[in-house]
Parts: sequence; C-alpha cells; structure tokens
Amino acid sequence: ADDIVYARSLIRTIQDYPRPGVAFRDITPLLADGRAMHATAQELLAQMPVSFDVVAGIEARGFIFAGAVAALAKTGMIPLRKAGKLPKPAYRLTYAKEYGEDQLEVSPDLKPGMRVLLIDDILATGGSLKAGADLVAAVGAEVTGIGVVLELQGLGGRSVMPQTRALFSM
Ligand code: IMP
Repeated sequence: ADDIVYARSLIRTIQDYPRPGVAFRDITPLLADGRAMHATAQELLAQMPVSFDVVAGIEARGFIFAGAVAALAKTGMIPLRKAGKLPKPAYRLTYAKEYGEDQLEVSPDLKPGMRVLLIDDILATGGSLKAGADLVAAVGAEVTGIGVVLELQGLGGRSVMPQTRALFSM
C-alpha cells in the first residue's frame, strides 16, 4: 500500500502544457522508478477481478503498462497500433477524434474468442479506450476488463467507458 501511494506521488503535473490552461500529467517519473513501476503493474493486475488470455495496450504509453502487466500475469501482450505501423494489420478501426479521424490497427495475433484485458496509461475523454475496445470487438475477441493508471476527472471518460478501473484519479 505504501508503494502505491509512493507511485502516485511521482506523477508530475506540468501547468500550461501543451497549451495554456492545461495541466498535463506526466508519468515519466513513475516509469523511471523501479519500486513505483513494480507496484503500479501489480496493482493494475490485482484490481482486475477478471479472467483474460492476453493483455492489449494502446499506443504508445499503454504499451508500457500492458507489457508490465502481461509479464506479471504470464500472458502475451498485443499492441493496438496507430495506422501504418504494423507490417500485416488484420483489422483497422477508424474513429472520430476532436479534430478529424484516427485509425487503430491490430495484428492477426488477436484471435476471435480471446479474452482481453485492455490497458492504457490515462483515461481522459475515453476516445482512445473506446476505439481500443471497439477494435477488439471487431475482431470477435472479448474485452473482459479495462484498466488505466490514471483517470482525469471532468473530461467525460468515465461516462464513455464506465467499466474502466483506474488506480489513481485526479
Ligand atoms: P482520451 O482518448 O481522451 O481518453 O485520451 C487518452 C490518451 O491521451 C491517453 O492515451 C494518454 O496517453 C493521452 N493523454 C491525455 N491527457 C494526458 C495527460 O494529461 N498526460 C499524459 N497523457 C495524456
């Protein structure tokens, strides 16, 4: 418990980044600390009362935590990537963003029927996790749990993705 309180204390707030009025939450100090990283991965895993076959992470910072959780759980990890990065995408999902559209792709390693734990670093508006969950569903796999390290309040993500479990909230 002390370790997870310590991990939270390492999240750094940068005021007026990337725009005036925005308080950017920077998780790189947490990433750089062994005790905090280990506690964060352990807690992410422990708070998911679900069965899963594989952990999927959303590009880019979701990869870091998805990989750490998968290693602890001894499952594989599947990256959900921005368009154009995978040599052999099996599925592509196009989704609406604040300005324009974006695409998320997955390799053929994600199979129909797989139970998926979906991980990202931060829940803000919920758009990224929604796209990730929709992509998993499009493949015919099943999202059994969704976890993030940090939920940002007041941006609507909770109502878009109400099933998300967050370690920290600010
Ligand atoms: P959403 O799609 O609006 O929920 O945004 C979530 C994505 O934006 C996450 O994958 C984060 O990496 C990124 N993000 C949003 N706000 C912050 C922040 O304050 N710090 C770091 N990343 C952020």
